[in-house]
Amino acid sequence: MTKKTIAIIGAGLAGLSCAVRLTALGHHVELFEKSRGPAGRMSTKRGEGWAADHGAQYFTARDPLFIEQVKKWVADQTVALWTPEIKVYEANQWTTFLSQDLRYVGTPAMNTPAKQLASGLPLHTSQTIDALSHKDGHWFLHSAEAGDIAKGFDELILAIPGPQALALAQHLDPDIKTIAGQSNMKGCWTLMARFEQRPEVAFEAAFVNQEIISWVARNSSKPQRTGQESWTIQANPLWSQEFIELGKEDVADQLLACAKKLGLDCTGAEISMHRWRYASGSTTATLGFYSNPALHLGMCGDWLNGGRVEGAWLSGYHLANQFAE
Ligand SMILES: Cc1cc2nc3c(=O)[nH]c(=O)nc-3n(C[C@H](O)[C@H](O)[C@H](O)COP(=O)(O)OP(=O)(O)OC[C@H]3O[C@@H](n4cnc5c(N)ncnc54)[C@H](O)[C@@H]3O)c2cc1C
Repeated sequence: MTKKTIAIIGAGLAGLSCAVRLTALGHHVELFEKSRGPAGRMSTKRGEGWAADHGAQYFTARDPLFIEQVKKWVADQTVALWTPEIKVYEANQWTTFLSQDLRYVGTPAMNTPAKQLASGLPLHTSQTIDALSHKDGHWFLHSAEAGDIAKGFDELILAIPGPQALALAQHLDPDIKTIAGQSNMKGCWTLMARFEQRPEVAFEAAFVNQEIISWVARNSSKPQRTGQESWTIQANPLWSQEFIELGKEDVADQLLACAKKLGLDCTGAEISMHRWRYASGSTTATLGFYSNPALHLGMCGDWLNGGRVEGAWLSGYHLANQFAE
């Protein structure tokens, strides 16, 4: 097999699993990531004396390939089970959430699995790729921060959310325009609250229906979390999308009022806000990944594989195998 040089844009779980697999198959991979570190939507926000998982809250594993990966992470303490007391709130009523699902979290933070995958890989952070060109059989990248990337690549993989792939690459391939144009992703307003003391609330996590909040969780109940008592509150996708351009303070006021109604009074807590512009959603048909061998171009990401952490990891892994074929 010929060793190829492959550029991957995006160091979330999909880009990283693709990179790890391609490297194992003998290729040379370089990752370009606009943020300061890997993990994407599996990130953890940090401040002085506190941390909070503000993207993915936990993940499940159902596919045998991903179960194998999770077992390895558990064995090396990258990941652990999280077994909170979960309640459901709907129509002014609380019930206990009963499910057999095993819920996993990164330890000591949600971004640890991504950091583990990224270790040893060539990862260029703070590089927002904003233009692509294909010349003389090679892909060339331009970054907003560093200008032209000097090196050309045999293959290019976009491991970024659908709307961002659309903006970056729709002119290169009509299929990307069609597929990424259907990605239907929604935003998520997220509020992080830090308390001097643990608030008296009758749950550690809650699914909330028919309110502007859809999820509340006590970060401090996850394994190996230290520092200030912290909670994460996430707004529901439809509400978030409708009010995605609203100011942070207005959003916070509305979420805090709803949290109070749910029994989590954040008076006196320190509050931080985060807006995820493309948080969740996927194409209606589950494609798994996209590959255009004639153009030496591929796409992977949760949005091509049903959403969620497991879908992202599998999408990257399967695209890498397809490349090898
Ligand atoms: C609020 C929220 C809650 C969630 N809750 C859960 C949950 O409980 N369970 C679950 O399984 N999943 C959950 N998810 C979904 C889960 O986080 C994702 O499915 C998964 O992390 C997606 O991985 P990915 O690699 O496909 O994409 P991403 O993680 O989005 O990775 C894409 C990467 O590309 C980078 N990038 C984008 N554009 C460029 C560019 N032009 N140049 C360079 N880099 C670029 C981004 O910075 C990012 O790091 C949640 C997500 C959010 C936001």
